[in-house]
Amino acid sequence: MKRILNFKDDFAKKFHGKLIPTREAKKLLQALLDSSADKSVVLFESPCRASMERPASEAEICMSAGEEFASFAARNHPENSRRISMDEAIRTLETRNAKGHVHYICIMEEDEGVFYTICNCCPGCCCAIEAGQSKMPMLIPAGYIAVVDPHKCIGCAQCMEYCPFGAMNLRDKRMRINPKRCMGCGVCTNKCRKDALSLARNKKHPEPLLAEKLKG
Ligand code: SF4
Ligand code: SF4
Repeated sequence: MKRILNFKDDFAKKFHGKLIPTREAKKLLQALLDSSADKSVVLFESPCRASMERPASEAEICMSAGEEFASFAARNHPENSRRISMDEAIRTLETRNAKGHVHYICIMEEDEGVFYTICNCCPGCCCAIEAGQSKMPMLIPAGYIAVVDPHKCIGCAQCMEYCPFGAMNLRDKRMRINPKRCMGCGVCTNKCRKDALSLARNKKHPEPLLAEKLKG
């Protein structure tokens, strides 16, 4: 799909997205709300999606929470944003995960690494995933790796279609994870009917971002 805007070069050097599994995205949102007077979450149109000629997903896939950032998003994007409750935010995270979207928090270097938005990106639209495919890494691995339980896996390959990073391969009737490609996003882990997939800490990657370590 052709992109109308070009997010290359300088933007990629300053912007980072730290991947997080759904369970951590929920905790991070809650932590932001707990520390803010404003208890609503703002759901708004993804700039990545808006830059596509023919977007592959629904409009509202990014969310901000907390007084400063949620208000900024609502004030500056009144046409394509809306306030939602925490319950709807949790449902949105779960729905996006079920569709194979990845969660990551946005960090800009000039903001001293402060977290302000959770993207719930569709692999067909996400600028950061696309940049990574062009050897311009913008996403920081989650700090986990997918693990297959060989006693449970029946080699149906159903999980494979959801992996946004091409890290899964079927060999000898069993799913294999490529550790060089797995970003630990966790998208695959609840797509297995046999409960054969889980996440384990990948010590070769940076530490997971945990809500209790949230800065800002
Ligand atoms: S969905 Fe589960 S059983 Fe099927 S290949 Fe993937 S891990 Fe194995
Ligand atoms: S194999 Fe790794 S990169 Fe692929 S969906 Fe699972 S956790 Fe994400």
